Amino acid sequence: MTTHRILILGGTTEARQMAGKLAARADISVMLSLAGRTENPAAQGVPVRVGGFGGAGGLAAYLRQNKIDLLIDATHPYAARISANAAEAARMTGVPIVALRRPGWEAVEGDRWMLVDTVASAVTALGSVPRRVFLALGRQEVAAFKAGPQHHYLIRSVDPVEPRLAVPDATYLLARGPFREVDEHALLLQHHIEVVVSKNSGGEATYGKIAAARALGIEVVMIRRPALPDVTSAETVESLAAMVDHFLVGHVLGPAAERGV
Ligand code: NAP
Repeated sequence: MTTHRILILGGTTEARQMAGKLAARADISVMLSLAGRTENPAAQGVPVRVGGFGGAGGLAAYLRQNKIDLLIDATHPYAARISANAAEAARMTGVPIVALRRPGWEAVEGDRWMLVDTVASAVTALGSVPRRVFLALGRQEVAAFKAGPQHHYLIRSVDPVEPRLAVPDATYLLARGPFREVDEHALLLQHHIEVVVSKNSGGEATYGKIAAARALGIEVVMIRRPALPDVTSAETVESLAAMVDHFLVGHVLGPAAERGV
């Protein structure tokens, strides 16, 4: 039986689920790639490699050396650089690419969203009057808020924010999602939060704070998604798994060895 070699660029729950689904197949060999940002990543249950490739060229070399037949970009919607590198590496090598693109959240009645394009504009959007702000962002983005030292910040992250944010008033919370709406509701009340800063991550795992903010009439500064490369994509693990199956069963993909890479 031919074994098809698939590289999944991960760092998301869906990537882990996708990898588990494909690893269960006898005709597929899966490698899951993580950037190495999280100190103790959740157990993935499949073979994992960790760390950057060294740009699009490095990723292309990896695809060639490991005779990868299909590249799956299942990274977070805000991880724009690796997605761009993946599209470029696929173009350079001729290895097919499919992306898993979770749809963004849409504002519904009762939501008080202020849309901004960047983290820096989110800081500006908080205004000059001191407010109690919940930062539900990655620890890399938090540093930008030193430009708004007049606010009180509740900062939640998976790993400790080091160095601490250079503002006089910040509270730190270590937690890993998923987060339920009922708990987010309690958290916003407990800390007297007046505004939430969020990415439009999509999916269920982190929607609780958005629903809780709506219920409490709290404003959300929503950072818009970055532009991502235009590649074939699916919105769910199930639909992507079905596409992979179509590629393999229909022999649209030959193994890398047959393509001479
Ligand atoms: P990024 O800005 O798009 O990528 C920066 C660099 O990190 C890339 O150029 C690449 O280095 C390396 N990299 C990123 N993802 C990788 C992966 N899966 N495997 C190997 N190398 C990877 O990414 P980011 O926003 O820092 O996110 C890093 C990781 O965290 C991603 O895997 C993403 O799925 C996950 N994540 C991100 C967010 C977010 O909000 N950004 C949220 C949840 C999870 P080289 O150029 O050296 O190859």
